[in-house]
Amino acid sequence: MEDSEINFGSRVFKVEIVDKLLAQGAGKLEKVQGEIDHAQCTIRIEKNINEQSMVLTLFHEIVHHLIGRVNQDDSEVLNPKFEEAFVENMSEGLMMVLRLNPWIADAIKELDE
Ligand SMILES: [Zn+2]
Repeated sequence: MEDSEINFGSRVFKVEIVDKLLAQGAGKLEKVQGEIDHAQCTIRIEKNINEQSMVLTLFHEIVHHLIGRVNQDDSEVLNPKFEEAFVENMSEGLMMVLRLNPWIADAIKELDE
């Protein structure tokens, strides 16, 4: 996967493939595979992971965006533990269905032709 963009309609996010990603975990910095930065309209994905994991991580961050992670004041909309489980299941499910049924992506493309 290369640097690219995700068009959400209201905003276009940059997708950056980066060397190393650290996020604030429970009191310490932890290595993560991806993150979404709503303020900077950027999704970052760790470079040194399998291509399949990169795509799955991209789906994961997209689902985070779609469910509207934070309010304007940065407070959480959902319980973070519930959100992670939900996002994990949705991203796995979306990628699974699209991978097993690639004609769906083609059918969507044809709608705009
Ligand atoms: Zn997540």
